[in-house]
Amino acid sequence: MPWTKLWLASSAGPPLASGPVSREWRRKIGRFGLGSWWPRPEQAAAGALDHLPSDQWPALAAKWHAAGFDSPLLRQLAELEIPPFDSGSSARNRTGGWAAPRGLVLSDQPGGIHARFAAIGQAVDLMPEVLRSIGFDPAPADEAFVARCQSALDVVQLDLDVTGYGQYRMRARFGGWPASVLPTLPDGSYWGGTEGMGREEEGSGLLWHAADLVSATMKEIPEIEWPVCAIHGGHPGSIWDGEEPAHLIKKVAWWRCTNTGHPLAPVGQLTAEVAKTL
Ligand SMILES: [Zn+2]
Repeated sequence: MPWTKLWLASSAGPPLASGPVSREWRRKIGRFGLGSWWPRPEQAAAGALDHLPSDQWPALAAKWHAAGFDSPLLRQLAELEIPPFDSGSSARNRTGGWAAPRGLVLSDQPGGIHARFAAIGQAVDLMPEVLRSIGFDPAPADEAFVARCQSALDVVQLDLDVTGYGQYRMRARFGGWPASVLPTLPDGSYWGGTEGMGREEEGSGLLWHAADLVSATMKEIPEIEWPVCAIHGGHPGSIWDGEEPAHLIKKVAWWRCTNTGHPLAPVGQLTAEVAKTL
């Protein structure tokens, strides 16, 4: 993703500087090592926050304030204190930055973890309001992202319909951080045990992921193996075994026979000849 280019292109923003940045905020800015790269508000509203852990959002808000953006909500987020995972000696080893989640380390302080999660929840709730308050609405980018995922699910839906499983209408469900989309059944149930579709996915890769997620959702929730080869059937042992049903073959998303592995049809082009119908 060409963030550098975006950053350069957007360096002439509309903000008006107001007031000095407090020492406290400067400390916060330095604490996480955001360094010289950090998403501008317009980039954040377009999805760049997907890659910045939400415990760093208060520091980011302080950066935005230092760059001249201002609103009461922005100040509120900048002032939010997020307790660290660990308050013991290992706290000295924190380097912050872009590392993967460190995993849970039990806090010395009773309720420390809960306080941390509560504060992170506040940051997640505040951020869209903060962005709107300084003129950058994240809703259009999020809606476009969800619509893109729904379009992929609609292609997979053609295959559900043609095989007689049309009652399982898959809706794109937008969730949390990092932002992702999972297929959801009409009763609102979804399977959260795997990674959802990401904002950066597109084209045949997105369609493959949508197909894989729909098949996984069918398996995990109504416990149905779908789709199944008309000739070989599913895995003879159990629906949980066998080949992965969705594959990317030469940049095209295909269904495969879960029993023997041969290609069935491109996703969206199943027929009653190649796949079992209800
Ligand atoms: Zn087969």
